[in-house]
Amino acid sequence: MAVARIALPVAVPAAFDYWIPEGLALERGALVRVRFARRALVGVVVGIAATSEVARERLQPVDEVIRDLPPLPDDLLALADFVSSYYQEPLGLVLAQMLPPLPAARDVAARSRPLAVALRLTAAGAEALAGSLGRAPRLRTLFDEWKAAPGFLLRIEAQAALPSHVRQAVRRWQAAGWVEPAPPDAAALQADGADGGAGAALTADQQSAVAALRAARGAFAPFLLQGVTGSGKTEVYLAAAAEHIAAGGQALILVPEINLTPQFEQRIAAALPGRRTVTLHSRLPAGERLRHWRAAAAGEADLVLGTRLAVFAPLPRLALVVVDEEHDPSFKQQDGVRYHGRDVAVWRARHRGVPIVLGSATPSLETLVHAQRGRYRWLKLPLRAFAPARLPRVVFLPSRDAGAAEGMGAPLLAAIEARLLRGEQSLVFINRRGFAPSLLCSSCGWQAGCPRCSARLVVHRDAGELRCHHCGHVERLPRACPECGNVDLLPLGHGTQRLERALIARFPGARIARVDRDSTRRKGAFAAVRDRVHAGDVDILVGTQMLAKGHDFPRLTLVGVLGADNALYSADFRATERLAALLFQVSGRAGRRDLPGEVIVQTDFPTHPLARALAAHDYQSFAEVLLAERRATMLPPFAHLALVVAEAPRRDAVDAFLGAASEAGRAVAAELSAAVEVFPPVPAGLARRAGLERGQVLAQAADRGAMQRFLPRWREAIAALPGRRVRWALDVDPLGFA
Ligand SMILES: [Zn+2]
Ligand SMILES: [Zn+2]
Repeated sequence: MAVARIALPVAVPAAFDYWIPEGLALERGALVRVRFARRALVGVVVGIAATSEVARERLQPVDEVIRDLPPLPDDLLALADFVSSYYQEPLGLVLAQMLPPLPAARDVAARSRPLAVALRLTAAGAEALAGSLGRAPRLRTLFDEWKAAPGFLLRIEAQAALPSHVRQAVRRWQAAGWVEPAPPDAAALQADGADGGAGAALTADQQSAVAALRAARGAFAPFLLQGVTGSGKTEVYLAAAAEHIAAGGQALILVPEINLTPQFEQRIAAALPGRRTVTLHSRLPAGERLRHWRAAAAGEADLVLGTRLAVFAPLPRLALVVVDEEHDPSFKQQDGVRYHGRDVAVWRARHRGVPIVLGSATPSLETLVHAQRGRYRWLKLPLRAFAPARLPRVVFLPSRDAGAAEGMGAPLLAAIEARLLRGEQSLVFINRRGFAPSLLCSSCGWQAGCPRCSARLVVHRDAGELRCHHCGHVERLPRACPECGNVDLLPLGHGTQRLERALIARFPGARIARVDRDSTRRKGAFAAVRDRVHAGDVDILVGTQMLAKGHDFPRLTLVGVLGADNALYSADFRATERLAALLFQVSGRAGRRDLPGEVIVQTDFPTHPLARALAAHDYQSFAEVLLAERRATMLPPFAHLALVVAEAPRRDAVDAFLGAASEAGRAVAAELSAAVEVFPPVPAGLARRAGLERGQVLAQAADRGAMQRFLPRWREAIAALPGRRVRWALDVDPLGFA
């Protein structure tokens, strides 16, 4: 009797045996449905054996082979093995992470129709639809967009974000002959080719980067592509991708943000006419994601563009991997399987024997050290690609200022006013949403705290609420102090809403837009603001780091930065690295075209090394300062860390559990003679969250091999600890402390 070893999405690091019914053809990598603890689960066959150690009568059969997806190829199974062993996560959970969401069986046929690259509105359609869409605003908007598009062409990827009733309407229109598939090369005409000088010839630096990638074809070769903001890294990726695709390969491009993909897709269409691109990210509708995954697996997609989960896309002809903004923390998954998308991408490129490019203006210290040691080839783009564009002038002003309006000093306000008069755009950046980060009683000193977290509640004046940004707790904004009855309650500090109000009061005629997680919650809201900025319908943008990345607003000439000092002296060892990346990114938004840019940073630490580096546009000098600190304190990239984080309703339960975990760690390290130091437990930075007490234990090793030998045994020892109601997780290469 043949037996299938099946990895199931359960938190047990073992595969399970099931017998294979007569006539059922199974191969390694196949997806199957089986019963597990009375539930039907989908698992992946990771092995086939002649016998099982489990008694025959206790084995259950494989119920069904799932044919919606092809069996996972060997290279993906190997990738899953690596992720499972490196990050100490059960193989079944890792494999589940790799798969697209599977639809109910009946939906498959309808959803797997082939994807047209672009649809064209026909003359008949333009006429028929013009008079018939009165009561359907979404369809009307789509139709108007379609009519306004050059050549009446609308790319199908833009439709992916549409609700299903709109997509169904488009299918009906296609059936009626009102829209029709357009030839692939026509799609390129519609794309916005203006970005970053796309379509223009590559600069000499860009050309030599592309040449280096060309020369690396067919073998593992890691590259760091370090280019100042606006230097045209994207043109290098796309030119290299075009060459590798022309030679018969597939390219994989990972980006940090979902919000970046629409813009990116347009540029890809312009750079790769006639090639098929699919996107993969978690907000894609399930059917779409499944279809894109299959297009990648079948080799029909030439390029896969996606967020960290796309690193697991099946790519039979993979020839080039790109990780854009490789320093971005969103490549690390912070719950479930805690993998780092960039690091997994490097492993995959090595395993598949293909070149990989890690691109950034502000590389992570890890990547920088690899480049300095010659393990990564270092390509540099030191100049902005658009010739007249100069790097912006950076000015530092004190945070406190007599003429300030809600934290914005008089010089910043004057600079904004000057932009308004010239018809240019300004961006005011503060990395804090809401109205004010806390509420204080001026009489007794009471501050509004979250009842479930060790955190202050944030004032959201628009909604008349206090909100906790850690657990989601919401309460009404009090009229009086609950302690002393005083009605004079002061919102302390500044958030985006408060700045927005102050700007509206100060510049009543200006068109002001706010961009943060609150203002962009509604689907499509972010894209709408971005389009308004591009169209010149916004004078002043105020927002959080959502605005810092990747966007290219041609008329934006002023960036004001507020509230940056908070992160300068944070307890989190990566806080300054992150702040540096953010400030360089956000400064890079200013003056990307022919208009000169200016950056005004309000800070009380104008002589901090970061401030000096920013003024000189010299990220490298600041990175050297950080590297020296990390070397002295034995922190990454000069040490390897693993963190056990735990939470429970009671503090004593967490402390006892983590105390035992720490002790077990020291015992394991001693037994293996592994040079791993395990520290005593400490409370998390946010000691209580959502009603749970939290703590952590850190393990540190100079040598990755020692850490990797140590981890499986430590995990086992922790799993065996008693700890009622304690939830814990192991975070390998954590981005920071909990
Ligand atoms: Zn009070
Ligand atoms: Zn809370």
